[in-house]
Formats: sequence, structure tokens, C-alpha cells
Amino acid sequence: MFEALSVLYHALQESRLMFRERAALEQHQHKVLAQQLPWVAVHSPATAERFRRAGLPLSRWRELPPTSKAEMMADFDTLNTEGLHLADVLRVARQAESTRNFSPTLSGKRGPVAVGLSTGTSGTQGVFVTMAAERLAWAGVVLRHLLPDWPAGLLRTPPHRIAFLLRADNSLYRSVGSRRLHFHFLDILRPLPELAAELSAYQPTLLVGPPSVLRSLLEAGASAQPERVVSVAEVLEPDDEAALRAGFGPVVQVYQATEGLLGLPCPHGKLHLNEAHVHFDFEPLGGGYVRPIVTDLRRRTQPIIRHRLDDVLLLAQGCTCGLAARRIVSLAGRQDDALLLPNLQGNEITIWPDFLRGAMSQVVGLREYRVEQTGPRELRLPLEPLTLDTLQAAQEQVRVALSRQKVRIDELTLLVGPLLPAPAGVKQRRVSRSYKPKRSQADA
Ligand SMILES: [Zn+2]
Repeated sequence: MFEALSVLYHALQESRLMFRERAALEQHQHKVLAQQLPWVAVHSPATAERFRRAGLPLSRWRELPPTSKAEMMADFDTLNTEGLHLADVLRVARQAESTRNFSPTLSGKRGPVAVGLSTGTSGTQGVFVTMAAERLAWAGVVLRHLLPDWPAGLLRTPPHRIAFLLRADNSLYRSVGSRRLHFHFLDILRPLPELAAELSAYQPTLLVGPPSVLRSLLEAGASAQPERVVSVAEVLEPDDEAALRAGFGPVVQVYQATEGLLGLPCPHGKLHLNEAHVHFDFEPLGGGYVRPIVTDLRRRTQPIIRHRLDDVLLLAQGCTCGLAARRIVSLAGRQDDALLLPNLQGNEITIWPDFLRGAMSQVVGLREYRVEQTGPRELRLPLEPLTLDTLQAAQEQVRVALSRQKVRIDELTLLVGPLLPAPAGVKQRRVSRSYKPKRSQADA
């Protein structure tokens, strides 16, 4: 009962943090950070060390050189404020993954700590550790932004039925349950026909899950008419959005990573940065694309201060909803997935994943595909279905799109083949680059 009240409290508080004036939003960020930074500097030795090494006082935190996920993991033992060791966190998290029992926690200095493993697609696997208070606050924020008819939705009879399709039933997610709301967790590692039948029987009013899984469920015969579909854990691509809208209902998107709850849908269905809880700085990457550097205003078990994300965003000012938080026009993909191709002058240029996703969405009859750069001048295009029509159209669309970006396409090899099914639970990325250029940090 205490937990439900706490979630509700945070959800109600959240309404006061949906600023309509940019100045008020920034003032709120400064006020919260004035408490957060000194606390973190005292309790997180790794963070204090970063300030010391940079020779900066806390007041000049925005000049602090950003950290990466690899550094966050390397410094984990002195970064977290509960005295946890990475080896223990990984052991508990992996055990939970294999036994499908997600209740075990670790003992921290101030109490039990829940652990989670990020479903990283490549490179460094991330862990996130949270205490109960943080999870309840998270649940309140999510509830406030995702319930289609807030606050009346809390008082409905029968109550909302919320289906969560997730790779792992992390206790972070389970904490949202209460008498006023029904939650049902479906583990996506189970066979699709079983999941589809269970979802159809549950008839959720709110359906939350990764878009690739939701779409597979539609194709496996799942039938539901939720008031809202919420896309999480993966980038929502336009063709998936269209398919989910047609099959289930209206679709909105949540942008979340190991680094925090980074973006939430607004009442008009657009994705906004979660600036009431996370401060964003941006590094320009050309063409309007930016890479965020995030500072979490309130996470304390695992502080996130000036942390550079691998994601690439395209932003806009203003939205018809009137909120001051910046709007995300496109989650263009991860920097690591961007293709590196030669242009007409022989220089290597960056092609963002959303650009190729746009090209492939033009291919009539194509159900699924990948675009993978496997060499300096080689792209693989696995297609489903693979027919003469999809083969020719895919090659044509990729060539047209790349030549528009002044890529030297006459030197490019496009290898088309059938798409093999991915193992269950594997995060789907349609555009990726396995080829690594010799010089390091080619595009940093
Ligand atoms: Zn909006």
C-alpha cells in the first residue's frame, strides 16, 4: 500500500514538472542539481575523482569531460554509492536471466539494491542498479506519462489492464502494480504462439513492448485493441509504427537506456526529452544530428553525471502540446551503427541509420530486412521475402539514397540474400556496421 501511494505521489508531482516555459524548466534543473551534485561528490568516489582530475569545482560541472559506458563499467565499484562490486552485480543479474527469477537483490549500505542487465547489442554490456525509492519514482513518472486518460484512468472500473512484453521481468518494472492498475508481464523469451494467445486472452488497455516483438505477435495472430501501444527498448521505425497502429491501435514511444529514462511521449503523441529529470548537453555531428551528454538529476545509487550516449538524435524546438522540453524528431540510431562510406572526393562520410531505414521503407512488399556494412565498400542486404522484385527495388533504393548523399556508389558492392530468423530475445537492429575502420574513433 505504501508503494502504491508513493507511486501515485510521484505521478502527481510529475504534473508540476511538465513545464511550459523553458526558463522555468532550466531553473528547476539548476535547483535540483544544486542538491544532487554535492551529494554525489561526497558519496561517489569515482565522480569526485573526475572533478579533481579535471581541476574543476562542482559549479563548473558542465565543463567536466564526458564519460562513456565502458568507463562507467570500469569504474563501477567506486562510482556506485552503495558499495557494490561489479562482479557481484553481474553474477546476480546473470543468474536472474538464466533462472527467470528476478527477485534477488544485493545488500547495499542503505538497503536492498535491484540489479538489471542492459540488452546491449554490441560492445559493452551495461548494468543498472536501483533502490526502491528510485524505482517508485520511476514508476510514478512512467505512469503519469503513459496512462492514456490521466488522472481519471486511475479510478476506472474495471481498472486499466497493462501488458508489459519484456525480455526480463526486472523488479524495476514490477513495482508499478497496485489495486488500481493491473499489470501482466509476458516474458518475450517464450514461444511466440503462446505469447500471442496469452496477450489475446488478457485484452490489455495499454500494451507496452519492443516494436519488433509486438510486430511478431501481430503476425503470430495476436488480437488486442489497447487504447495505447507504447514502444520501448528499441528505436520505433516508421513501418513498424504503421503496422502496429493498423493492427493494435495508436502508438507512442518511450526512450530508455541503461543511462536512464531519457524521453517520454507528450499528450500529442510526440517524443520529448525527459528534461525534468535529466539534463542534456549536445555534441554536434553535422547535418543537424547531435549526440547527447546526459546528467541525471536524481539517480543516486548509480549516478550519471556528464555521460556521453552512443545515440544520435535529431531535435526540434517546440511542439503543439506546448511543453518546454525539447522534442525528438528522430532517434537516428547509434553512432556505432552509422555507415562509413567513401564520397565522390574519396573522403569517408557518415551515413546515419535512419537514412537507410527511410530508403528501405520505400521497397514495396518487403517485410523485414537488414543493412550491414561488412567492409569499407561492402553492404549486405538480407531481405524477407527475397524475390526478384524486392531484390531489385532494395538495391535501387539504397543506390538512390546513397548517391543523394554523394556516396561513391560505383565502387560499392551490395550483397543481397535471404534474411535468417534472429534468436529470441535478441535486440533487433536493422542497420548496423560490423566493419571497423583501421584508425580508431574514425567518426568521434
Ligand atoms: Zn509535444
